[in-house]
Amino acid sequence: MTRVVIDAGHGGRDPGAVYKGRQEKDDTLDLALAVGEILKDNGIDVVYTRTEDVYDSPSQKANIANEADADYLVSIHRNAMPNPGTATGIETLVYEDSGVRAKMARDINTELEKLGFKNRGVIERPNLTVLKRSNMPAVLVEAGFIDNELDNKKFDDQLDEIAQAIANGILKTTGRDNSAEIEPEEEVSNGKPVSTPKFYRVQVGAYKNRNLANALSKQLSNEGIPNFITFRDGLYKVQAGAFSQLDNAVRMEQRLRRMGYSTYITTR
Ligand SMILES: [Zn+2]
Repeated sequence: MTRVVIDAGHGGRDPGAVYKGRQEKDDTLDLALAVGEILKDNGIDVVYTRTEDVYDSPSQKANIANEADADYLVSIHRNAMPNPGTATGIETLVYEDSGVRAKMARDINTELEKLGFKNRGVIERPNLTVLKRSNMPAVLVEAGFIDNELDNKKFDDQLDEIAQAIANGILKTTGRDNSAEIEPEEEVSNGKPVSTPKFYRVQVGAYKNRNLANALSKQLSNEGIPNFITFRDGLYKVQAGAFSQLDNAVRMEQRLRRMGYSTYITTR
């Protein structure tokens, strides 16, 4: 199972950039958690460096990723200029502009650009500790400028879309994971377990944005794959089939994979 560490930049006594009382560490946490939830729902094993307002040094954050033996590290930040309000847009920092990290950085930037952000590109930062000390491909996303009113408005109005864009960029590199374990579900009624029919569904995507789910659903239908959209845990999930036999779900999954889709099997 692909493991991605999501790092909400700064935290605790380190607020990061501050603009008119707005603190980078709060924005990064909101966004990091939203990105992580979408990734989880696409079968990725997500590890957060923090889920609350606590401080860890950049090298501790890199250590968390190293100890988790993660496949990728994505650090979420917001940008600032020495002179407030003089810059706008997104950029992604890498230790070196090469290999899989460079691809992931560009994929994320491209997705964010679709939301109307200026794409400031991929920038090499060989001296940033979190990028330098981590053992796996790592990228640091600067999700707009915290000292720019328009970037902040976009951040607040479109947080879900921004999270989706970053998740999509990550998923383009990692692929949706295939080996997610199927957890048996136990339904409980009045404290007693009840047996409910369990169906295996082949999930092809999970989106915050209804339009993206509709587009995938339509594409699948055009290709002759029966499918439906369910809304659960804040996400629109595009799922193909509902099989009582796991074998049949696996067969559908194989068919979808041959068509180039990334999938995983779920009972939810
Ligand atoms: Zn920062």
